[in-house]
Amino acid sequence: MNLQANITQIKQRINQALKASDKGQDEVALVVVTKSVAIDTIKTAIAEGVENIGENRIQDAKIKYQEIGNSVKWHMIGHLQRNKVRDAVKIFDIIHSVDSLRIAGAINEEAFQQNKIQDVLIQVNTSGEKTKYGLSPSEADVFFGKVNEFPYLNIKGLMTIGPLSDELVQIRGCFQQLFQLYHSLKADGFSFAYLSMGMSDDFELAIHEGSNMVRIGRAIFR
Ligand SMILES: *Cc1c(COP(=O)(O)O)cnc(C)c1O
Repeated sequence: MNLQANITQIKQRINQALKASDKGQDEVALVVVTKSVAIDTIKTAIAEGVENIGENRIQDAKIKYQEIGNSVKWHMIGHLQRNKVRDAVKIFDIIHSVDSLRIAGAINEEAFQQNKIQDVLIQVNTSGEKTKYGLSPSEADVFFGKVNEFPYLNIKGLMTIGPLSDELVQIRGCFQQLFQLYHSLKADGFSFAYLSMGMSDDFELAIHEGSNMVRIGRAIFR
């Protein structure tokens, strides 16, 4: 694995996709997904300039966080269970996977306890796949009607996971749907900063459709 070359190449591909996009993003943040990656390898990636780390399991993140600490920003990208919220609020700079009013309430309460304003993204299930977490677009409307109940959350945008599909049209449709929701909520006054969409297989398409935060694992650690 030539980590340095892989990271450089991904950054180049991100920049090319950004140049080709007409959606008006200024930049695209790269979250390097390190689930199932050994701590030494993660440290090498950080030495190569990686600033954002994505993890999807609290148990793993805890161990890695103890070793690595706050030299990077920690992104929680996996489904969060209520009994893991305390650790999540301790570790993560931003939680991408808020997918219910219930978990939002639990994070809000815990952030209050820890004297923190927790940055979060709301995960939307744009593909309708039953195996995927996230609010349906109509549930998202209900959710955003109730955000005043969560003063300790700073809702910074939306996240989705593209469908597991070879159909370009279908994947693009999901990303377009989230882009539209993002902009209609912004027009309603939400001060969003991040539209988190795009992984190893679809990040260029996601950037083309307006993503400004991609989450990439396999294309880097190969
Ligand atoms: C694993 C994962 C990624 C990264 O996926 P790759 O295909 O390895 O790039 C991104 N987002 C989420 C939510 C993930 O679980």
